Amino acid sequence: PVLLATLPDAPKIRVIVRKRPLNKKELERAEADVLECDAAASCLYLNAPRVTVDLTPYIDRHSFRFDDVFDEHVDNDQLYERAIQPLVGTAFRGGKGTVFAYGQTGSGKTFTMSPLPLRTAADIFNIMAQPSHGGLSLHVSCYEIYGGKVFDLLNGRAKLEVREDGRRQVQVVGLREVAIGCLTVLQQLCDHSAAARSTGSTGANDESSRSHSILCFALRATSEPQKTLGKLSFIDLAGSERGADTYDNDKQTRLEGAEINKSLLALKECIRALDADARHIPFRGSKLTEVLRDSFVGKNARTVMIANVSPNSGSCEHTLNTLRYADRVK
Ligand code: ADP
Ligand code: MG
Repeated sequence: PVLLATLPDAPKIRVIVRKRPLNKKELERAEADVLECDAAASCLYLNAPRVTVDLTPYIDRHSFRFDDVFDEHVDNDQLYERAIQPLVGTAFRGGKGTVFAYGQTGSGKTFTMSPLPLRTAADIFNIMAQPSHGGLSLHVSCYEIYGGKVFDLLNGRAKLEVREDGRRQVQVVGLREVAIGCLTVLQQLCDHSAAARSTGSTGANDESSRSHSILCFALRATSEPQKTLGKLSFIDLAGSERGADTYDNDKQTRLEGAEINKSLLALKECIRALDADARHIPFRGSKLTEVLRDSFVGKNARTVMIANVSPNSGSCEHTLNTLRYADRVK
C-alpha cells in the first residue's frame, strides 16, 4: 500500500524531458538517433540531468539541463513513480497538481499521458481505503479545447462555456463529472473520452493533434461533495508543430494554428510568471490558461511539464524547438 506520509512533496514546477525510441519507419530509413540523455541525477547544478542534441558533423551540439531526463529505456511505470506519484500527496494535502505533455505530433505525448490517470487513481483508491483517509470520493471529468472552444468528452462533445463565478473561480459551465469507485469504470470513461476526441470532418485521426485534451480528478469529502479538496489535471497538449500552421493555405487550419500558437505561448508565459511569483499572471491569454487558472495559483499548486521528444535526425528542428520551449519554462 502507498503511504501518504512517504510521498515526498513535489516542487512547485518540475520540467522533465522524455525521449521515445526510434520507430520502425525511422529505423528502416536508417535515421540517426541524435539525442543523448544523461540522467545522472544529482542536486549539483553541473551534474543536473542533461539532454544533448548532437548534430555533428552537420552543425553542432546543443545541451539543455532539466529537472529530470528520461531516455527510451524508461517505461511508463518508472516515469509515473519518478515524476507523477508525488502529486497524489499534493491532492490529499488539499493542493492542485497539473501535468502537461508538450511536443510535436508523434513524439509520445499520448503514449506518456494515457496510462497516468489509471496509475494515479490506483494510488488514490489505495490511500482512500486507509482508515485515516476515509470519507472521501473521487470524481472525473474530461474535456477538449479545440479552436479556442471547450467540448465535453464525457457528454457527447457538448459545447461548453467558461465563466467566472462570484468567487472569481473559473467554471466550465455544465461540465459532466462522474464519481468513480473503481478502476474499471475509470478505464471505460477514458476509452469513451479518447473515442470522443476531435476527429474533424475528414475523420482523420491526426485531427486530435490540433486539440488540447484535459482529464481532471477532483477529490471530495463524501459529506460535502460540492467542495473540491484536491485536484489533479492531466493535459495532452496539441502538437507543438501545429502552432506553425498559421501560414497554411486552408483558412480553418490557419485559424486553428493561430489558436494553438497563442495557447502554447500563453501557457509558457503563465508558468514563467508563476515560477517568478509575479503579481500579474497572464491567464487571459488563451482559453487553455483561462480554464486552468485555478489549478495554477496558490501555494499548494504543483506543475509537471513533460517535454516529449523524437530522437530521429529528421525531427531535430522540432526537437530543438521543444527543448527551447521547455528550457524557457524552467
Ligand atoms: P503524440 O501523442 O505525441 O502524437 P504518440 O503518443 O501517439 O505521439 O506516439 C507516437 C507513436 O510512438 C505511437 O505509436 C506510440 O506508441 C509510440 N511511442 C511513443 N513513445 C514511446 C515510448 N516511450 N516507447 C515506445 N513507443 C512509444
Ligand atoms: Mg497524441
